[in-house]
Amino acid sequence: MSKNKLILINPFNQHTKQGTYDTHTISPPLALGIIAALTPKNWDVEIIDENFEEFAFTDADLVGITAVTANVNRAYEIASLYKESNIPTIIGGIHASMVPDEAEKYVEVVVIGEAESIWKILISDFENGRLKKRYDGELLPMKNMPLPRRDLFHPNYSYANIQTTRGCPMKCDFCSVHTFNGSQYRQRPVEEVLDELETIPQDLVYFVDDNIIGYSKQSAERAISLFKGMIERGIKKDWYCQASLNVADNEDVLKYAAESGCRLILIGIESEKEEQLQEANKKLNLKMGIENYQEVFDRIHKYGISVLGALIYGLDSDSIEDLYDRTRFAIDSGMDAMQATIVTPLPGTGLYKRMQKENRLTYTNYPEDWKYYHFLEAVHKPLKMNPDEFMEAMLENWSIMYDDKLLKKKMLRSLKATRSPKAATWAYLSNVERHNICFGDSKPPLDPNVLLGGVGNRE
Ligand code: SF4
Repeated sequence: MSKNKLILINPFNQHTKQGTYDTHTISPPLALGIIAALTPKNWDVEIIDENFEEFAFTDADLVGITAVTANVNRAYEIASLYKESNIPTIIGGIHASMVPDEAEKYVEVVVIGEAESIWKILISDFENGRLKKRYDGELLPMKNMPLPRRDLFHPNYSYANIQTTRGCPMKCDFCSVHTFNGSQYRQRPVEEVLDELETIPQDLVYFVDDNIIGYSKQSAERAISLFKGMIERGIKKDWYCQASLNVADNEDVLKYAAESGCRLILIGIESEKEEQLQEANKKLNLKMGIENYQEVFDRIHKYGISVLGALIYGLDSDSIEDLYDRTRFAIDSGMDAMQATIVTPLPGTGLYKRMQKENRLTYTNYPEDWKYYHFLEAVHKPLKMNPDEFMEAMLENWSIMYDDKLLKKKMLRSLKATRSPKAATWAYLSNVERHNICFGDSKPPLDPNVLLGGVGNRE
């Protein structure tokens, strides 16, 4: 008996400047790898990944597409092609979960929330000719998670990725993580994560958790066990992750993170002023205190790790001067890499609801206009400036921040602070990649080996 065929698609937003991304700035479609792993053995599964190859119609019995807001338009475009051929298509991911009424116009089935609890039921329903229009995923404990089918990912990804926790108890106004993954911080057993890490062939790893150390003493201890486990099992990776400012509370976290290969930590700084943090409901930063940012950076540097600060521009409390102040702060502070994005009201966030209510969204021809919701374009009317003024100022801020000479100086400063050529190099390359993303060019990064006198390499 011939097997059923499932095609899983990772769509690409051609409108964004993603085309300039190099293979270090993208990571494999982990959710599709998990879906593939959950699919019964009597199915053949293939992933079409538009990060590398443009979609070409491929025959299938069933099609699954994942999308975030910025690429959902492309997802609908591909789904429509399958609709014409009467091949049932399923969409999942954060965007469709937030606006299922919109998504169901383009597909047969919408999966809302995390798919692990419903995927096998959905496949069985398909096999028995009783597919439903919607499936609601539960937030399961993260135990005995299936290992993603890494064999189906495109081989050219430089980084592998892995997830060890989900959910966030914080409620930042611009974020939909707590709506999608829930407000409880769920953790995978350390031994299971270590087993999975041992299956990863790449030397470079991205921990995709929104906050790898969590918010409690217990979760910090768990992170330490994970890092110690990597050392004990001889899992040699260079890795980066995301965390909150509390990552530096327990210096053992930093010590073992560094020893197990951590080179860079992304921290949601958002703003250096309390007014903006209050507006964004960034409670943890307010609690930690803006006056303590520098100390947090210094402690991270002490262990040879660079800091990638995520900053947000265009909040209601921002004046034009505030934008330049933020850039000045990013340059002068000890953060090594800078990620400056525009506040973007994504569906499912408090911010989106407010902007909609106040009639301040400027791109509302949905779904077409979702393609602009990629964090580099103002899709709302800022309160203290008009959108054109704001975009003009943003371009200038990005030019200042990602200036060639400045980035080289910053790298040397990072080297001095971290005494780690690898950490300094990662920060530098991250800045160059941000430059390329913001300006849409693909200028190759300068060879950091030259700048660092022949040491340090990301490979
Ligand atoms: S931005 Fe980070 S801390 Fe805030 S709600 Fe989202 S995941 Fe949680």
